[in-house]
Amino acid sequence: MRSKTAAMLLAVFFGYWTWVYTFCLDWWKFVVGVISAVLTFALLILPAVLSMSGDAETKLTECLDCGQRWQDDAGGDAPSVCQACGSANIRVTQVTESEPGRSPLLRTLALVCFAGTFCCSWLWPVIHTALRPSAFYADYPLYGK
Ligand SMILES: [Zn+2]
Repeated sequence: MRSKTAAMLLAVFFGYWTWVYTFCLDWWKFVVGVISAVLTFALLILPAVLSMSGDAETKLTECLDCGQRWQDDAGGDAPSVCQACGSANIRVTQVTESEPGRSPLLRTLALVCFAGTFCCSWLWPVIHTALRPSAFYADYPLYGK
């Protein structure tokens, strides 16, 4: 004997945790929900982790007198004179390489994955519980047997 109202409230507020309420029959749905929730969490923190390691910055320096160009890694001081002719007439350009998490394709992919896991861990429990007949909960766990 279970209450559909209770199952519905659990689904709306706690998503896939509603399966615990009818665990004997819905344990595999709970497993799907847990996996989806872990994937969603991973997708939320993955871009932050990627941007921490992939934020590469380089300085491009060009001598305006002799045309010599060279490149420095981030962190070092910008050179004040040309390494080839000694002229101070140089131009430094900061170049920040694009982070992997900022690529449009990856962002779209992450969004699609996020929508999918959101559906599995919240939308599906809510709809499935709403569509179940009240008798399923009244006769639990013997409904249909
Ligand atoms: Zn030069």
